[in-house]
Amino acid sequence: MDCIFCRIVAREIPAGIVYQDEYVTAFRDINPEAPVHILVIPNAHLGALHVLQASEESVLGKLCLAAGAIAQQEGISGEGYRLVANFGPDAGQVVPHLHMHLLGGRSFSWPPG
Ligand code: AMP
Repeated sequence: MDCIFCRIVAREIPAGIVYQDEYVTAFRDINPEAPVHILVIPNAHLGALHVLQASEESVLGKLCLAAGAIAQQEGISGEGYRLVANFGPDAGQVVPHLHMHLLGGRSFSWPPG
């Protein structure tokens, strides 16, 4: 297993895990871009949205529900938060394991850079 996020899910390497269930793990980004910066990932090693199968539909819902619950838990649901998913080099994706960035605790510009 050479995927760093798979190793975090398996607790082989340390991370600031804030939530974990049978399908989803969420942990603090090691290089935060906002006061709250949490990565919400499927426990299974899934790739980009455009390669997912219909059978993986339900885990996408679980990721979104977990992100919303964590936003509440982190106290950022009132002021607002942003969910970002990067796919491919133009988007700046570094880790190939599907993940959503949950960002909050400050205001964000639009459009994104
Ligand atoms: P992306 O550019 O969308 O692929 O984002 C990958 C994110 O993973 C970056 O924000 C990194 O800071 C973060 N990251 C990489 N390794 C770790 C780690 N070991 N623990 C927590 N976050 C990490």
